Amino acid sequence: MADIKQLSRMLQELDDLLTRCMRCGMCQAQCPVFTKSGKETDVTRGKLALLSGLSQEMLKDPKEVQDNLNRCLLCGTCEANCPSGVKVTDIFLKARAILNGYLGLSSTQRLIFRRLLTRPKLMNALISMSSAFQGVFSKDADQIIGTSCARFNAPLIRDRHFKKLAGKPLHRQVPSLDTPAGSSGIKVAFFPGCVTDKVFPDVGQAVIKILKHHQVGIYMPENQACCGIPALSSGESDAFSTMVRQNVELFSAGKWDYLITPCATCTATMRKLWPEYHKGSLGRVITENILDVSQFLVDVLGVKPETSDNRKTPVAYHDPCHLRNSLKVSAQPRAVLEAGGTYKTAEIPGGPSCCGSGGSFNIKHYQLSKDIGQEKARNIKASGAEMAATACPACMLQLADMLSQEEASMPVKHVLELYAESL
Ligand code: SF4
Ligand code: SF4
Repeated sequence: MADIKQLSRMLQELDDLLTRCMRCGMCQAQCPVFTKSGKETDVTRGKLALLSGLSQEMLKDPKEVQDNLNRCLLCGTCEANCPSGVKVTDIFLKARAILNGYLGLSSTQRLIFRRLLTRPKLMNALISMSSAFQGVFSKDADQIIGTSCARFNAPLIRDRHFKKLAGKPLHRQVPSLDTPAGSSGIKVAFFPGCVTDKVFPDVGQAVIKILKHHQVGIYMPENQACCGIPALSSGESDAFSTMVRQNVELFSAGKWDYLITPCATCTATMRKLWPEYHKGSLGRVITENILDVSQFLVDVLGVKPETSDNRKTPVAYHDPCHLRNSLKVSAQPRAVLEAGGTYKTAEIPGGPSCCGSGGSFNIKHYQLSKDIGQEKARNIKASGAEMAATACPACMLQLADMLSQEEASMPVKHVLELYAESL
């Protein structure tokens, strides 16, 4: 637990950030959680009002404040559209850290954040063991999407249609790489991220294939840790810092020009939250050089969409919130989707909106997550596309679940997989 001095300093910082909110309510219509629940406490304005009296509220009912605060996807939609430039994500993360400092973590959270995520080797061994036994409690749900569902009544899984853990994760297929820059003259550090590594190794293989095709050198060290976002978004900034430090040490040992990742959530975390919340040096890691892979391909290597009329297959592209809202990256994944010449982008009716995943939000508030995700799945079906694609493995999990439950039977791909097919 944090000491009183530290807590009051954090509360003061939070008060300073909160003064910018004019209570105009313009964030209301755009909040995916409020749109489904209709509760004022779910929208940014309501949460900020609660936080403006946090020191009193913490004494009255800290658990209720924490529960209200956790009913948020951290999608950044409100922040991206706020006329006053309120740093909503920053406020929510700081408030979660304050409440965690006051209330402490549950024993399960302590185990996951402090004992597992900070030990990549142990984490990898446990995931490999789980992968070997997952067939016992699961059965096929949709073969085209590649989802499974629970064989028995399982309270944790409920009615989810989930992607199974990969039989052979990326870190076992390709333990490490250190290849020289080819004719491009560029070398990148490659951070696949946990979900790519353990569920979607094909996405990691697609990145390696694309980089080799473009003659880009790759530095991919062994035993990479999680980017830290699960811990930070639960208010556990010490474990977050431990994971950042582990990755910084690994990547500082190599020479490279850009650090790239195919995970929107990892990119946003590493670029924006590492420098803000890590209590230590970032070594050789320059956050401006951390890029989403599609951003690297388009902005650095000059990959362009193929504009001939021969492109046949319409693909519904879902904008990950962490790319679109946090990093303003939306044109590049579409360009990569179209670069191979086989696919064209089908825009999803309803415009860009959150898929409802939100990391631990999906675990704690599955029905709400599902209500938001089902609307997205129905809009994808209405787009007339033959498949869905996105640029974040966490969104891929949610889209696969929702489309599978909606019996859409359309593959869910990463845009990098579609581009790699053409090379
Ligand atoms: S967060 Fe921004 S949009 Fe929402 S009420 Fe405050 S000022 Fe208005
Ligand atoms: S971050 Fe997203 S879910 Fe959270 S309050 Fe803002 S719009 Fe709503």
